[in-house]
Amino acid sequence: MQNFAYVRPASVTQALEAVAESGAEQPRFLAGGTTLVDLMRLNVLESERLIDITSIGELQTFDTSGASELVFGALSKMSDVAEDPTLRRDYPAIAESLQQAASQQVRNMATLGGNLLQRTRCEYFRGTSYPCNKRSPGSGCAALEGINRGHAIFGYSDACIATYPGDFAVALAAFDAQVDTASPRGLRTIPLINLHRLPGDTPHLETVLDPDELIVRIRVPSTALGRASTYLKIRDRQSYAFAVVSAAVAIFIEDGVVHEAHIALGGVATKPWRATAAERSLVGQPLTWESALRAGAVAFADAWPRKASQFKMALGPKSVAKALMVAKERSAA
Ligand SMILES: Cc1cc2nc3c(=O)[nH]c(=O)nc-3n(C[C@H](O)[C@H](O)[C@H](O)COP(=O)(O)OP(=O)(O)OC[C@H]3O[C@@H](n4cnc5c(N)ncnc54)[C@H](O)[C@@H]3O)c2cc1C
Ligand code: SF4
Repeated sequence: MQNFAYVRPASVTQALEAVAESGAEQPRFLAGGTTLVDLMRLNVLESERLIDITSIGELQTFDTSGASELVFGALSKMSDVAEDPTLRRDYPAIAESLQQAASQQVRNMATLGGNLLQRTRCEYFRGTSYPCNKRSPGSGCAALEGINRGHAIFGYSDACIATYPGDFAVALAAFDAQVDTASPRGLRTIPLINLHRLPGDTPHLETVLDPDELIVRIRVPSTALGRASTYLKIRDRQSYAFAVVSAAVAIFIEDGVVHEAHIALGGVATKPWRATAAERSLVGQPLTWESALRAGAVAFADAWPRKASQFKMALGPKSVAKALMVAKERSAA
């Protein structure tokens, strides 16, 4: 057991003061703890100063009724947001991405801010006896020649092929969400799609956030596309499992043709992945099973699977197509 200091601020201001007072101690924010405590117990992550943000009231609320945007405080619980009736009706893709994540018990504890920043489920990252550039920079990547069936087929490097595991961020990517942060240097807004980094030579740096930067809220622009949306998640078992392939799609169909399509992929890339070429391929076309499958094929045209992840090349396009057909049904409703 590593010793650590523990502080419990009651406001964002106090949290930032606690960060600024950390000095040589490495600070980490503690929200629901369902990722962080797990990894500290496994000795994968260390912290010399835990800043427990769960008492910060101003980060606990969310509002899905706004005319221009949906606003989610970083400490909103996954379970509360997943059950929000307005979200379920007007943005089913976002609600479904939360409903299909983890288990009810985890969702009751876990927060939206922590969900965005969850770490990869690569077995070698979580097992400290293996080389892993993400856990221990420069040590190598055991997954390159090891078990990599679930690993990324987009956006990887020779240093790391781990998949970004979350569902919610994939749905947010489809809706052009933004993330507001606060740090001792001030406030900033980051487009969700730019929050996570590609691994490159520095896979241990997973996001563009600084260590002392706190996510305060997530904002999603209101859009009529929301109602005709879905999150389709393919996994090895029906519940309590991470995505092998997932697709968040939202469409706007008028006069029998697609005017706008948003498609984001999960379970296949090192970060939430937007399939813009596939989106463009649908615009101006009637949406049929055939055109949906073609869009799925376009979405995976640049993928680069390894032998064990080759199956995702068949599963991926069909998942996108199936999600598009569900969105089409919802667009007619
Ligand atoms: C068994 C199991 C199954 C799971 N299955 C799924 C699944 O299918 N799909 C899925 O999407 N997720 C899944 N998860 C992941 C789970 O959703 C995340 O662990 C959870 O959302 C993290 O939220 P938290 O509040 O507990 O974060 P914490 O564990 O408290 O924090 C996670 C990380 O985020 C940082 N952090 C937290 N809040 C902030 C903030 N506001 N600003 C800056 N940094 C912050 C922490 O310092 C830490 O590094 C699963 C988890 C478990 C344990
Ligand atoms: S894929 Fe990434 S997380 Fe997994 S062992 Fe390689 S470097 Fe580590």
